[in-house]
Amino acid sequence: MTLPVYDWISHHAGVTPEAMAVIDLYSGRRQTYRDFDARVDACALYLRDGLGVGKGDRVAMLAHNSSDHFEVEFACRRIGAIFLPLNWRLAVPELEFIVGDADPKALIAGAEFMDAARVVAKTVGTPHLVQCADGEPSDYEKGLAATRGKCPIEPLVHDDTWALVYTSGTTGRPKGARITHGQAFFNAVNAAMKCELTCRSVGLVFLPLFHVGGLQLFANPNFHIGATNVVMRTFDPLHFLNVLSDPELGVSHAFGVPTNFLFASQLEEFADADLSRIVCLGIGGAACPQSLLETYAERDIILQNGWGMTETCTLGTLLPRHRAMEKIGSAGQAVMHTSVRVVDEQGRDVPAGVNGELWIKGPTITPGYWNRPDANATEFTDGWFHTGDAACMDEEGFVTIVDRYKDMFISGGENVYPAEIENVIYGLDGVAETAVIGVADDRWGEVGRAFVVTRQGSNLTEDAIIGHCRDNLAKFKVPKSVRFMDELPHNATGKVTKHQLPRD
Ligand code: ADP
Repeated sequence: MTLPVYDWISHHAGVTPEAMAVIDLYSGRRQTYRDFDARVDACALYLRDGLGVGKGDRVAMLAHNSSDHFEVEFACRRIGAIFLPLNWRLAVPELEFIVGDADPKALIAGAEFMDAARVVAKTVGTPHLVQCADGEPSDYEKGLAATRGKCPIEPLVHDDTWALVYTSGTTGRPKGARITHGQAFFNAVNAAMKCELTCRSVGLVFLPLFHVGGLQLFANPNFHIGATNVVMRTFDPLHFLNVLSDPELGVSHAFGVPTNFLFASQLEEFADADLSRIVCLGIGGAACPQSLLETYAERDIILQNGWGMTETCTLGTLLPRHRAMEKIGSAGQAVMHTSVRVVDEQGRDVPAGVNGELWIKGPTITPGYWNRPDANATEFTDGWFHTGDAACMDEEGFVTIVDRYKDMFISGGENVYPAEIENVIYGLDGVAETAVIGVADDRWGEVGRAFVVTRQGSNLTEDAIIGHCRDNLAKFKVPKSVRFMDELPHNATGKVTKHQLPRD
């Protein structure tokens, strides 16, 4: 699209300069749109004149969540550069792959990641390595302080790339999804329409900012509409409840993955947390257990289930709140600026109620991956992106995500989707967290194995769990074994990393 890109921050700085743009909880920094615009300007000038970053160049960031991320992101917009937020959980060789692939002009890193950043920058040959320190004296602060004047806003169009967000790469090399200005714009419009964002909204950002969930729900939509973002360095369930309860902050919106809400609900403090100011708590990124949705509903909070992916710049489908309990288990209908289909292996639409692969099209979908003509050729058909998710749709267009195809296993010739089994196990009192995978079996090919973390004081047994599954699931879906764990492995976003669960 050749539509021009507006500079959101400069607009709000002109119209509502006193409105609060960012509150950084870790450092205590608070910036109005006037302050934030000035910081973005200084950062843009530093990148352009201090580091020689030009239009289309990448700028990498390896740091915990902070308001600095947003400065760099919007400074990239101002000079037409591409923001490359990096996953700080990755090991040096993994970072080397991504940084080598994206080839940034500069790498900005938090103090705690400088050792890794030094190695990566040296191996890859990144021209500039800059330390940032949450507003404390650092190269980054020195660089910004040395700039003078206003940075001209680079004319851009919606097709221009704003960010590269790398997929987790659990089944191969990570791929950098190009996120264009157009995608971010349409996602901001969708989020505002469907989640009641206004300029008075206060969003709490706790998902990591290297993930689209952190960046685009609801951080960027809030910046687009001129609202406030409260930034949490990393997720902590008690801190989360305390922040939601704080009347001075007045948080109205947040988006998280199921484990965020699960862990918060398991704290004693959940019962008395003041959730009265919440307008929308969005949940997605992984299967949402029904029991979790019900736990929040008992506290009069509708967790609004939304489905999306890195490639869809988050929101692809969203369950409207007024139908959330009636359609519990569904991830809702396509948001306005997207279309979805459920198709068979030949790419033909399947009838309502039948499982197939979810495909999605529209201006919120990535135009493709960085440096990956192979994947760009195989993962799109006539602009429809193949999501790799099994799903079904009802007559009204409500989509139920069955599971990722790559997590499906085949037992005795039948397809088994672990998310369905996990949902059943979550129905048992005493289950804190669970994950199911398929493991090799001589007789059936593969059988289910459930990993269960129990709540304190629970005396759940393997027999009780398998018995409960037998009562609620077809025989071929019932896990053959249960392993009790102290905790499950999670990625930095909070999703369970099933590939790390033992298969032997
Ligand atoms: P990662 O692979 O690192 O988790 P993504 O965030 O792009 O990266 O993951 C997107 C995937 O998360 C989707 O393909 C889908 O399998 C899952 N997902 C997202 N939202 C939902 C949802 N509401 N219900 C079930 N699964 C979801």
